[in-house]
Amino acid sequence: MSTTAPQTVPFLIGGQWLELDADAFEDVYNPSTGGVIARTPLGGPAEVDRAVQAAAAALPSWADTPVVERARVMFRLRQLMDDRFEEIAKLVTREHGKTIAEARAEVIRGVEMVEFAAGIPSLIMGEVLPNIAAGVDASCVRHPVGVCVGITPYNFPNMVPLWMVPVAITCGNTFVLKPSEKVPLSAVLLGELLDEAGLPPGVFNVVHGGKPCVDALLEHPQVAAISFVGSTPIAESIYRTGTANGKRVQSAGGAKNHLIIMPDADMDQTVKALAASAYGCAGQRCMAGSMAVAVGAAGDPLVDGLVDFSRKMTVGPSDPDVDADAESVDMGPVIRDAHLQRVAGYLDIAGEDGATVALDGRRGDSGGAFLIGPSVVDRVEPGMRIAREEVFGPVLSVSRVATLEDALALGDDCEYGNGAVIFTQSGYAAREFTQRFNAGMIGVNVGVPAPMAWFPFTGWNRSFFGDLHVQGREGIQFYTRQKVALTRWPRSDQSHADPVWKTSR
Ligand code: NAD
Repeated sequence: MSTTAPQTVPFLIGGQWLELDADAFEDVYNPSTGGVIARTPLGGPAEVDRAVQAAAAALPSWADTPVVERARVMFRLRQLMDDRFEEIAKLVTREHGKTIAEARAEVIRGVEMVEFAAGIPSLIMGEVLPNIAAGVDASCVRHPVGVCVGITPYNFPNMVPLWMVPVAITCGNTFVLKPSEKVPLSAVLLGELLDEAGLPPGVFNVVHGGKPCVDALLEHPQVAAISFVGSTPIAESIYRTGTANGKRVQSAGGAKNHLIIMPDADMDQTVKALAASAYGCAGQRCMAGSMAVAVGAAGDPLVDGLVDFSRKMTVGPSDPDVDADAESVDMGPVIRDAHLQRVAGYLDIAGEDGATVALDGRRGDSGGAFLIGPSVVDRVEPGMRIAREEVFGPVLSVSRVATLEDALALGDDCEYGNGAVIFTQSGYAAREFTQRFNAGMIGVNVGVPAPMAWFPFTGWNRSFFGDLHVQGREGIQFYTRQKVALTRWPRSDQSHADPVWKTSR
């Protein structure tokens, strides 16, 4: 653990890195050691106003910069992310705790968003219909919406900001990012990289804080659009408040993702895929499979296989700069000790509700690291809290049902609707599941069906509030507004012609 004073995380406003006074701070931990590595100043309306003013001041000239030049910043950012790939990944691991392999995978997903945004000149092109009426041409083009805001969660410190920032700014908007106060360092590094890539000052700004900071962003009259990713109660309130204040809002929430295992599934492959889905990033993913549903005879071999496989997983500190064995761990720590206690508490709750804890991941002393191993909870029934609530930790519940119809009914009864997966060798079962399961992102023999940058991230139900999702063309639609122009150029010697535009009937 370092003995130097933890750094105070700077704000980025109008191209300046600023250490602003704050009444309160949140500690940033290295979950692999339990030590404090930085402190996040919790800003409020004054800091938000400065950042939004800076973004508003930068807007006219950035919006007027040819889209091809804006896209070139993305090409340079992509190169810088490639050059500094290990540094970016290590920082994700240091402030979040996921394994270095998981951090590398996260950064690759972020890079893909930058690559997508580099193609925006083709994707943002408008439509033209000449002679839509006699002598009248129609065109429809996309304009930026203005100052955009991103409010991001702790579980993907690099990737989730990159779901938003590259697309928003390449579409000609300016941006204020409010990263999770638990993991602000990756956002600061993104600001440094964008600066090095040649982004003009004020186009990308970073503010820090909790609810008062977010409230000030939601209320600021110069903010046009808000992108939020986080837990469902906050996602819903951001959507309601933001839209009531006249902003366009896309707001992604939490999840409870079902993994259906048919009796004909290849059990060895399925067990490995389930463990990766449930325990990857220590279960702290909105696409983590948390509810396995064993159909018919799949139940016993599935639970036996899961317990056997998961108890052999190596759980340990994940930061390669502080632990020599970090590269070889299968699962790192969770984000905070308080979160570890919350996750562990669900094992007690499940037992009290009548489920069977088949593998208990709770450990003794972890030398300060926030470590909890994989758990398997068997015979979970639909009404139990562990079946309904997002645990957001390495706990896999197993329900046993008789038929595929029963499994589909569990989805209909779920308030969330992010991802769902089926493991089967039956094309018929896979097709029924794909067509009918009540969720927006579907996997067939794929454990984590998270769409890549070119497709929208299509959460349903209370996993998403709004109309246009992040990623893909929907992202571009969210960050632009359309303008339709009708033009008519009568011959100069026909200036006496009827000035009323005539349709063809
Ligand atoms: P969180 O909701 O606690 O925090 C998210 C953001 O909201 C942070 O920036 C935080 O500072 C801010 N915030 C927290 N409380 C607030 C309040 N009362 N008012 C206004 N702002 C507030 O989420 P988290 O714990 O950081 O992240 C985990 C959650 O995010 C999980 O529920 C996970 O499923 C979800 N998530 C969803 C997706 C998705 O695409 N659907 C992706 C990643 C994470």
